[in-house]
Amino acid sequence: GVVTRFAPSPTGFLHIGGARTALFNWLYARHTGGKFLIRVEDTDRERSTDAAVAAIFEGLDWLGLKSDEEPIFQYSRADRHREVVQELLAKGRAYRCWMTVEELEAAREKARAEGRAIRSPWRDAPPPADPSAPHVIRFKGPLDGETLVDDMVKGPVTFRNIELDDLVLLRNDGAPTYNLAVVVDDHDMGVTHVIRGDDHLNNAARQSLIYKAMEWDVPAFAHIPLIHGPDGAKLSKRHGAQAVGEFADMGYIPEGLRNYLARLGWGHGDDEVFNDAQAIEWFDVKDVVKAPARLDWAKLNFINSQHLRQADDARLTALTLKALTAAGTDLPADAEARIASTVPQVKEGAKTILELGEHVAFALKVRPLTLEEKTAKQLSEETVARLARLREHLAAAPVWGVAELEALLKSFAESEAVGFGKFGPPLRGILTGGAQAPDLNKIMAALGRDESLGRLDDALA
Ligand code: GLU
Repeated sequence: GVVTRFAPSPTGFLHIGGARTALFNWLYARHTGGKFLIRVEDTDRERSTDAAVAAIFEGLDWLGLKSDEEPIFQYSRADRHREVVQELLAKGRAYRCWMTVEELEAAREKARAEGRAIRSPWRDAPPPADPSAPHVIRFKGPLDGETLVDDMVKGPVTFRNIELDDLVLLRNDGAPTYNLAVVVDDHDMGVTHVIRGDDHLNNAARQSLIYKAMEWDVPAFAHIPLIHGPDGAKLSKRHGAQAVGEFADMGYIPEGLRNYLARLGWGHGDDEVFNDAQAIEWFDVKDVVKAPARLDWAKLNFINSQHLRQADDARLTALTLKALTAAGTDLPADAEARIASTVPQVKEGAKTILELGEHVAFALKVRPLTLEEKTAKQLSEETVARLARLREHLAAAPVWGVAELEALLKSFAESEAVGFGKFGPPLRGILTGGAQAPDLNKIMAALGRDESLGRLDDALA
């Protein structure tokens, strides 16, 4: 079966590009009934941190992308990597190289001038007098021929072997290098499909040579284009957000971001909004497009809004409360209950949780509300009398629901023989204090009877 993996280097936060790579691997594994694995590539001891490992898992958990097996930490496998290098040495497919830094620099110059990759003079030379002197172990690459990477996204890409240098496999302190570790781990983990950023396309050629030298099956490669900002430039800080955590802080919900990321560089006809089951059914890595994808905030907002309106009210209540608390908003003691009764009335209009926080603000105001000047001016004697009559109808309403309140307001306007404009705007001002809010019947349904009548009484007193 298919085995995919996401192999982040823990040197920073989970980048949105990395999240999409993880998602494509996850989708492809689910689509094929295969396995999705996670491998933390912490081979670079200087740049890898525990904080980054935690941040990456936090981002993946938030997005709902869990490894089907215990995640693997690459550094813990260093002995196995060294063992494979011994095999390559025994097969004559690797060699020890005692070049000094200066010699290496000179060789690099020469190779560059001759338009080929660097080769070490130790490739074919007998060992020096003191073989225990510091040295690295290099892969012994072919000097002629070509290496084909038949990429599932890029198509066939051919590399001239003369241009692929003899990779260092083990550093002079015995530490395995990245390209070696990737091959050994992918092989040992049974990875069948390597889906990753196209900045690794060149590595795929070098890695293919190592697979072949070990007589291992070369996995299928799919190198996916990077994500660019809306302006087409490589995604960077100035585009507003790069880390998955920032998208969470901006109020996107996991299923919304998942849907949006799936559509970055891949799509299923005109289907824009879909759930996981549909994505899993439709996704195929070979349908990923070659051109870099561009972040499109309007589209992300739209897709997120569609998932928000389908989300469970209790969950949205908790998320909204959390966001408002995190923003340091002054909240009444019963904020949670107020948000819970308001969310169902306003969630259709919100693009993010932060917007939901703005849309419930009217319900979080504490009596007596400060009325806008506009509202105060509308409260003529006639209007006050009319609103007092409306208050009696409201107090007597047998059912306090959105539909019932709509009917009540309509029949009240008829009984008064006036248009809605004669009492609607002041009523709205009284109930909201001028805050953004939905239709009047929804406002009152959200506030509940006691709070609605209380706000009305405050204003009419
Ligand atoms: N650790 C590499 C990176 O984060 C990924 C390598 C791979 O997927 O093969 O760029």
